[in-house]
Formats: sequence, structure tokens, C-alpha cells
Amino acid sequence: MKIISSPQGAYLKVGKKRYLNLCSNNYLGLASDPKLQKAAILAIKKYGVGTASVRSLVGTNDLHVKLEKALAGFKKSEDCVVLTGGYIANMAAIQTFIGKDDVVVSDELNHASIIDAVKLSQVQTKFVYKHSNMADLKQILEGIKTAGKILVVTDGVFSMDGDVANLPEIVKIAKKYNALVMVDDAHGEGVLGKNGRGIVDHFGLHGQVDIEVGTLSKAFGVMGGFIAGSKELCDTVRSKSRQFLFTNALSIPDTAALIAAVKVLQASDARVKKLWENTRFLKNGLQKAGFDIGNSTTPITPVMVGDEELAVRFSEDLFKNGVMASPIKFPMVAKGKARLRLMPSAIHTKRDLEKGIKIIIRCAKGVLG
Ligand SMILES: *Cc1c(COP(=O)(O)O)cnc(C)c1O
Repeated sequence: MKIISSPQGAYLKVGKKRYLNLCSNNYLGLASDPKLQKAAILAIKKYGVGTASVRSLVGTNDLHVKLEKALAGFKKSEDCVVLTGGYIANMAAIQTFIGKDDVVVSDELNHASIIDAVKLSQVQTKFVYKHSNMADLKQILEGIKTAGKILVVTDGVFSMDGDVANLPEIVKIAKKYNALVMVDDAHGEGVLGKNGRGIVDHFGLHGQVDIEVGTLSKAFGVMGGFIAGSKELCDTVRSKSRQFLFTNALSIPDTAALIAAVKVLQASDARVKKLWENTRFLKNGLQKAGFDIGNSTTPITPVMVGDEELAVRFSEDLFKNGVMASPIKFPMVAKGKARLRLMPSAIHTKRDLEKGIKIIIRCAKGVLG
């Protein structure tokens, strides 16, 4: 683990040295934004730090209510319930609504937290469809006979490859087979849709996705997770979910900073635009230099290496040369598909990215030949 002794920015300090940061999920630069800092400090002065209780007892501060309202407004959903992480929100969404007699149909590249959540639900009948393969999804649904519920669950943006789920088609197919749809939009929040409203807004599918899970730990710059959907859905989470009832409420500064983050996004799409501009700039530079950057259509930028050891060595060499870029290998991706995963942010300047590309080219020559 690298120990960071600076704010999350375009550069990170490790020891005495500064490194170009190409691996945080700080898409919009909100993690160290002065507006969020100020909101957190003011809230601490007013309310203190901790909530000292679960939400359902005395842990619900008026800030939590304000944040849930703000998020529901931003997502254009009827209601929204905030939990302490995206991982926890997936657990809550699946365990609350799916029992052992129901059926889950899941994309093969779904995030670990969805896989764990399905395990926790103890559902007996589960299917995995080939990645984003709509014919396979259809065929699986065609064969299901159940008196229980059917849940089709997918990542919105796939976190290792950066491709986007075919949500309009998934919704259409699910409707035909009377299945519920859940999307985990962790890497789409703050990135896709108008002002970063996420994948549902990107495809104009408001009201057609039953369960929308999001994280507040990536583009939103703080930590936490949420479930957006109907009022009935969210109230059920508030009254039944073990992940809501048996763990402490999100802290005061986190909650206040998140309200400020939603305000920043509501007010302007400048950061989202800058993120996409930087994404194009980084991808163009790498492609021109001949790198295989996979099939990403989002800021997530894989640089394919293949061999596990080479990917690690590539990353280490970059670090020696002042660039932080995470190596991604088995079990995060299949064997033989090791890569670097670069994450541009709205806070990078063109010069930062130019410098990064140059060093990446130089290190690749040394390590990969
Ligand atoms: C990051 C991520 C999560 C976990 O979110 P946290 O808020 O960090 O717990 C869940 N799902 C996906 C797809 C993610 O990328």
C-alpha cells in the first residue's frame, strides 16, 4: 500500500515525492474541493462529528434527510435512501428484495459487491449471462419458471473495462419476462448523463429501472452509497434492510460534504465536460502511440498488457518515474488480461496528461520492449 500524505488531487504525495495521480476515482476533483471542505467544517461546528446511533434509532440527523432529498431530486427518482457505502448499498438492495425462492440473473463481469450480495441473499437459483450478451440474457430468461421474483442485475459502467451496459435493451427484455432490473452505477455517477446524473439519465430511462444503486465514494468525492427508486422501495430498505438497521449512520461531515457535492453538480456541468475532454485527450495520446486501450467508452482507460508480471513491472517503473497507475490483474480480471487502469479526472491539466503520456511511452519501451 502506498501511504498518501496530501489531498487527493492531480498529484499525490508519497514520502517526500510528488506523483502524477492517474488512478483515483476522484473523477470530478470533489474529494478535496473547498466547497465540500467548508460544508463539512460548518456541519462539524453545528453538530459534531459522529451520529452515535443507527439511522432507525437516533442516528438520523436532518442532514441525512436533506441529502436523500437532494439526491432524489438530482437523480429524478421518487425517493433515495443513503447507506454507508456502495458495497453496503448493493448488499441492502439484493438482500432486502431477493429471497431464496427468487431468481437472480447477473452479468458475468458484475462487481464483487453484487456477487457477494447475491451470496448473502441465499437465493437458490442464479444464472450468469455472458458479458453484455443480450441473446444469452434472453435465452436464460426464456427458460426460467418460477413463482418468485426475477432480478436482472448489471453494473452500469464495468469497472475494469469501462464499457457501458446496454441498459435500454436490458429493460426491454426484462419487461417481456416480468423481471425486475437493478443497475449498480458506481462508475456512472458524476460521469454519465446530464450533469453526471448517471446511466438512467444517460439513456432517458427514468422510472423504468426498479433499483438504482450508486456510490458516493467515487465522483461524489466523499463516501457512502445509495439506493434510488420508488418511495415504497426506499421505505422498505429503511424498515427491513439489515445494512440500514444494524450499522451506524453516515457521519456528519461526510453527509454535509455530500449535500455540497450534489449542489455543485446541480449547478453546472463544467466539471463533467472537463472530465470527458481530458478523457478524449488521454485516450487519443495513448492510441496515437500505439497502445491497445480496450473497448472503454468512459473515462476508465485500460492499457492492455496481458502478462501479469509485466503489468506489475510496468506500474512499478511508472512509479519510479513519478506516475501512479494501478496494475489490474487476476482475480480482478481474467488471467492473461492484465493491464494498467488509468483514471483521468477533471482536475488534470492538459500538461499533466501530456507529461503522463510521455512517461508511459518511455516506460513501455523499457518494460514491454
Ligand atoms: C466502487 C464500486 C462499488 C463500491 O462502492 P463503495 O462506495 O466504495 O463501497 C460498488 N460497485 C461498483 C461497480 C464499484 O465500482
